[in-house]
Amino acid sequence: EAPLLEVKNLETAFDIDGTDYNAVDNVSFQVKPRQIVGVVGESGCGKSVMSLSIMQLLPKGIGKVKSGEIIFDGINLEKMSESQINKIRGKDVSMIFQEPMTSLNPVFTIGYQLQEVLFNHLKISKREARQKAIALLKSVGISRPEKIVDEYPHQLSGGMRQRVMIAIAIACQPKLLIADEPTTALDVTVQAQILELLKEIQEVNDMSVILITHDLGVVAEMCDEVIVMYAGKIVERTDVDTLFHNPKHPYTTLLLGAIPKMDGTEERLSSIQGIVPSLTNMPKAGCRFAHRCPKAMPECTTITPLLRDIEQGHEVACLLFETSKPREGVR
Ligand code: SF4
Ligand code: MG
Repeated sequence: EAPLLEVKNLETAFDIDGTDYNAVDNVSFQVKPRQIVGVVGESGCGKSVMSLSIMQLLPKGIGKVKSGEIIFDGINLEKMSESQINKIRGKDVSMIFQEPMTSLNPVFTIGYQLQEVLFNHLKISKREARQKAIALLKSVGISRPEKIVDEYPHQLSGGMRQRVMIAIAIACQPKLLIADEPTTALDVTVQAQILELLKEIQEVNDMSVILITHDLGVVAEMCDEVIVMYAGKIVERTDVDTLFHNPKHPYTTLLLGAIPKMDGTEERLSSIQGIVPSLTNMPKAGCRFAHRCPKAMPECTTITPLLRDIEQGHEVACLLFETSKPREGVR
């Protein structure tokens, strides 16, 4: 089956004091129709920048896609004009973020904000739009949608606001939904409900989802495929079973070891020493994980590992594997 989304050699740079730094560095992956692809890694690994690149929502004048292709449903988004992008964004591809309060406009009612999306993309009367807004609120599990439709964001709980954001995101039945830490700001019970809702909608609408999270428990519950990112690069990519049962990259192994215990004693990711290098402080050569990696070898600071299949459908970028060692002339 043809992929719905194909990201090829994506490089996204940020301008810091006149110098370009790659926040996403040579990233390639695919999302197939109806697939849920998880993107994991600590903060600062380029997960959000990657999704903003796909959405063409990088902050203007600061972030830009330097090279690579983003092919969605057969069209290269990098080659589209702003007005062409506006027709696709919110309709065929949409996104939900961590904190719905910042994406909902506090001065407009829930109904107004839902109808705005509908008016932007569909030929629809005011009356129809209101009816559809109410139906959408109902479909994301909001009780008394006839009342909520006339309320303002601050009148709703965090969980309700995230449901509203989901309703807005799916209003035009997108083929791809990018969810960036959609439940991180919510308490655990509400988190579970929102994830369940997302999965339900994904199944009913035959939608593909890119789910960005630092929570591997969420990945295990939700995803088909997993991309592990570290410092702007993909370090491992495979199906969810292989990732949990046969992880190969030392970073993945550490992430798995850092899954919070059921009794809540272990802090998230607490077992990985050190921090992700900042954009302006990336090692020039070698593996970007070298200064934190328990398996690091002398060559890890000079040779840059390549992301390569170690078996069908399982890509790893680590010099512990022959496949990742660069040969002359091969990038
Ligand atoms: Fe560790 Fe070296 Fe593999 Fe990087 S390349 S993950 S430093 S062993
Ligand atoms: Mg982020």
